Amino acid sequence: MATAEPQLRWELEDAPRPQGSLFGDLVERQVGRGEYRGMEFSLVRARSIINKVDVPWLAFAHSINVYRGCSHACVYCFARPTHEYLGLDIGADFDARIVIKINAAEVLRAELSPRRWAGEAIAMGTNTDPYQRCEGKFRLTRQVVELLTEFANPFSILTKSTLAIRDLPLIVEAAKRAEVRVDFSVGTLDEDVWRLTEPGTPHPRRRLRAVEQFLEAGVPCGVLMAPVLPGLSDAPEQLAQVADACQAIGVRPAGPVPLHLRPGVKEHVLAWVDEHRPDLAEQYRSSYRTAYLPAPQRKKLAARFREALGDDAPPKTPVRSLYGKGAQPTAPVPAKVAPTRQLDFGV
Ligand code: SF4
Repeated sequence: MATAEPQLRWELEDAPRPQGSLFGDLVERQVGRGEYRGMEFSLVRARSIINKVDVPWLAFAHSINVYRGCSHACVYCFARPTHEYLGLDIGADFDARIVIKINAAEVLRAELSPRRWAGEAIAMGTNTDPYQRCEGKFRLTRQVVELLTEFANPFSILTKSTLAIRDLPLIVEAAKRAEVRVDFSVGTLDEDVWRLTEPGTPHPRRRLRAVEQFLEAGVPCGVLMAPVLPGLSDAPEQLAQVADACQAIGVRPAGPVPLHLRPGVKEHVLAWVDEHRPDLAEQYRSSYRTAYLPAPQRKKLAARFREALGDDAPPKTPVRSLYGKGAQPTAPVPAKVAPTRQLDFGV
């Protein structure tokens, strides 16, 4: 049954527009049942679906995010503050109250009209995970991929979810028609750290298996090692664990991307550290005086990871080539540089 909720604010960060201009009315509110128990879905009608991304150092200029909030519930998720714009909180609400742009396919079809669209590459997974749990119910990402395939439009997907395998045959077809790339983010293979920090995500080893499946099917696919959490997942043996697992499937991981703590996320993560890892509280407060890990620590992390990969040479390929414009590498992915800034992806 439709539920009006006019007090919700619908301004979104990934497509800054005047307040209230992005969504029309809330169409329906659904309470999750069965496997979605404890969740709530706000179905809204989006007024636009392709976002312009004005970040010069990113390789892509357009993105699509069909969901707001993410049940993968990664404690460090950089997208959390976007829920505040909706009048929701960035903690439990972000994890369980998901905004669904239910008319995404209808709007996208109109926006992909040759009269309006030049066929530029579109990135998915730049804010929230397009294959988070509710995609199993709403299938909006699938609808978007179907349309991009129909229009032979290049695209990339960044995800932590093995649900992407559901769409493998479709993505194989898309890759025959346009440049397509899929990447899985894997920040750690440490079981304890994974359970503690990414409680709603598929096991990272299952993600690596998914990478193999995409590669076996001929779809360019790789691993983004992100984010690496100081004191939690940056020990040499933890980095080596990821490096070895990637090398075992013939992939050179991109990254490592150190944790980035933008305002809002920083307070959320520091409170989480205080509760779950008080032994790291001082380290986090001294390291994150700004949003970024200090340069010496970033360099140390990059050097450790190169060592874990058995690679003494400095990286040559800038990370900005990862997603979007220009050539997309085919498997195995080539070396990538350790970035000096965190990619602003919901990794
Ligand atoms: S980091 Fe990615 S997978 Fe994790 S909660 Fe954020 S959007 Fe979802």
